[in-house]
Amino acid sequence: MWAFLFILALTALAGLHFWWRGKFRAQAEQLAAEIDSFKRRQQQTSMDAQAQQKVLFDSMLEGLLLLDRNRKIYLANRTFKNLFGVKAELRGKTVVEALRLHELDELLQRAETEKQVLDYEIKLPGLTDRWLQVNAASITNAAGEREGTILVFHDLTRLKQLERQREEFVANVSHELRTPLSLIKGYVETLLDGAKDNPEVAERFLKTIERNANRLDLLIQDLLTISALESGRMKLDLAPVNLHALADRVLTFLHGKAENKNTTLVNALPELVVNGDVNRLDQVLANLVDNAIKYGRAEGTVTVGGKKLDDGALEIFVRDDGPGIPPEALDRVFERFYRVDKARSRDQGGTGLGLAIVKHIVQAHDGEVRCESELGKGTTFYFMLPAGLN
Ligand code: ADP
Repeated sequence: MWAFLFILALTALAGLHFWWRGKFRAQAEQLAAEIDSFKRRQQQTSMDAQAQQKVLFDSMLEGLLLLDRNRKIYLANRTFKNLFGVKAELRGKTVVEALRLHELDELLQRAETEKQVLDYEIKLPGLTDRWLQVNAASITNAAGEREGTILVFHDLTRLKQLERQREEFVANVSHELRTPLSLIKGYVETLLDGAKDNPEVAERFLKTIERNANRLDLLIQDLLTISALESGRMKLDLAPVNLHALADRVLTFLHGKAENKNTTLVNALPELVVNGDVNRLDQVLANLVDNAIKYGRAEGTVTVGGKKLDDGALEIFVRDDGPGIPPEALDRVFERFYRVDKARSRDQGGTGLGLAIVKHIVQAHDGEVRCESELGKGTTFYFMLPAGLN
């Protein structure tokens, strides 16, 4: 009897044991599967975060460089690679190995010891000047230990170019203003010193003063025009303009000047109509015809002509049969204050801004300007107005 009960108890215990084991294994397997899926989800999330981080860094306008605590590159974004023209993988390299820029190594040393963000400018070696602003800062963890360094690069080249242009412009303007002003002052002083008592001399001097005052006036007008055009403050007043009639008005206005040089003025423009700003287009034609008379030969011919191109755009030209412009100067004549012959331009009362104004006005109409010239034969200035304006 006892033996039977003992065997029964044993059997019950064994059954219980196997029931528990089975249940536990199923639970363990389920747990393992859950851990596995959690790990995979975490891996996926981390991969997604890395991909997002890469997209974010690569979309930055600034170059970004992250270095580890051993000054090895951990991350370089797309802008950084473009700025320095590198295609190779940079991860694991030092800055000097990657860029051969020892200045940056010095900056890194300083960034590691100083607490604030450092600001530095570097000029990149190369054919054309390239300037970069670099901000460098040390990265520390919550415990205050240094983890690495972050460098942010901004391209300053365009800004530097604009600054140089502005400085040149201010220097040119001061020079252009000073020349007639010192002439005026000189003649006034001579008049006051006694020349005023000789009516003949006084009249000659006063005429020179008047000429230089007019030159100052023209220069200031041109400066105001160019400043308004360049700042985009000048709004075009668009309306249909008959180009033949416009050329007639301009040639009539400059008739006296042409007569002084025995220049023949010809209006060969067909009756083309453009949707433009009549006052501004008048200024374009007047500047070009005025130049053609000024720099053309005495007893020469100045022709205004044009046609409709195949794509519907209008091409207008002003042609003279003067001495022409040397090939190396052709691209530069549209620059502010550029003159092929400085003395000649000033003699003729030129401000050096006429063609720059022409270019700006034509560009404001979405058009283009160009110039063709053959030494000894003549010069033709073209401006094109797009089809959309017809
Ligand atoms: P400027 O006030 O000196 O005339 P512009 O900007 O109108 O200034 O012209 C720039 C320079 O281009 C002139 O100084 C002159 O040397 C040259 N130029 C312009 N038009 C002609 C032309 N038709 N023939 C020869 N040279 C010209």
